[in-house]
Amino acid sequence: MNKKTLKDIDVEGKRVLVRVDLNVPQDENGAITDDNRITAALPTINYLREHGARTILVSHLGRPKGVTPKYTLAHVAAHLSRLIDQDVPLIPDCIGPEVKSAVDAMTNGDILLLENVRFHPEEEKNDPEFAAQLASLAELYVNDAFGTAHRAHASTEGVAKLIPGVAGFLMEMELDYLGSALDIPKRPFVAILGGAKVKDKIGVIQALLTKVDTLIIGGGMAYTFLKAQGLEIGKSLLDEANLDFCRDVLATAGDKLQLPVDVVITSGNPFDIGEAACETRTVKVNDIPSDWEGADIGPETISKFSAIIANSATVVWNGPMGIFEFSKFAEGTRAVAEALSLSSAITIVGGGDSAAAVQQLGYADKMTHISTGGGASLEFLEGKPLPGVVALQNK
Ligand code: AMP
Repeated sequence: MNKKTLKDIDVEGKRVLVRVDLNVPQDENGAITDDNRITAALPTINYLREHGARTILVSHLGRPKGVTPKYTLAHVAAHLSRLIDQDVPLIPDCIGPEVKSAVDAMTNGDILLLENVRFHPEEEKNDPEFAAQLASLAELYVNDAFGTAHRAHASTEGVAKLIPGVAGFLMEMELDYLGSALDIPKRPFVAILGGAKVKDKIGVIQALLTKVDTLIIGGGMAYTFLKAQGLEIGKSLLDEANLDFCRDVLATAGDKLQLPVDVVITSGNPFDIGEAACETRTVKVNDIPSDWEGADIGPETISKFSAIIANSATVVWNGPMGIFEFSKFAEGTRAVAEALSLSSAITIVGGGDSAAAVQQLGYADKMTHISTGGGASLEFLEGKPLPGVVALQNK
């Protein structure tokens, strides 16, 4: 990586503004249901504490429209305090006089957390005045929020133009794993894409086809490719506007592109009619009835995909193989996760649904790397520059 990291700067006694991604899922009582993003930020937080920095953490939580108590970071502050066995006070705003005096009162090794930066709409607008107020709190900036690095927001990009910015350890690790998988992959290099829409993944399909030995496409996306092959797909997901794109890919990719050969179909969408009411069948892809819908990959496809994974040396996976939120349609996603866990390849799981699935299924410790950023990892794989990284100081 050509960006400076925490190790390249002296932080002792300095006020350091650290953009972290503490956007964790919580239940209706605020209890954190998955603290991976908090634990992933600990190496940077602990390093700063041990090196005598005055650490000012800034993060978003959810997508609030203005100040919304539901999206307070109070539970996160309490959870983080417990994890590091040090009080991390939550300051009730992220800019203004109260924040300033809390920062002025800090001593070396102290850590505080600013309230949800998205309570200010200026954050997502990358408002320069708002960025200047954030930057005025600190002498140095660290971006450790890989999950939002694809966004040019005030706390991810704007501040780095005003005070010297470096990458935190999580950011560095994410960029190193994804970067070396793309630039110097051990071959065979296999990418697996799933999820709902072709539209969201056009760029990444194009970019990956130039790099991988095999591109596996499963999930809802696969049906537009099957339709482009002239097959009946019934009521399966169809991205009509991108049929031509899929035809072009099919015409040029040859054997590099691998699609499902059989699928689990349902009489109705489980989100609409409930899982219990879904009648299911397994059929070959050329046998989908016009009033049924494809909801998962079938057993033959699982064997085919698993064999490709078993023979690979690098695998990157992003997106579920079916409507995995329901157990009737989760087998394909589970089986791909299992195939990755059994493989001796370098296995990199893009964030989002596939990362959550791997974690829930208990395969997390079998993966080489599970990214904390779904959208960011996709944009990185697509070859797009991430604004939150570009803004950091070069080595
Ligand atoms: P994405 O956000 O594009 O990664 O898509 C994730 C969503 O794709 C999940 O909510 C899945 O339920 C959905 N999905 C995966 N396979 C299918 C399918 N065959 N039909 C409809 N939705 C699907």
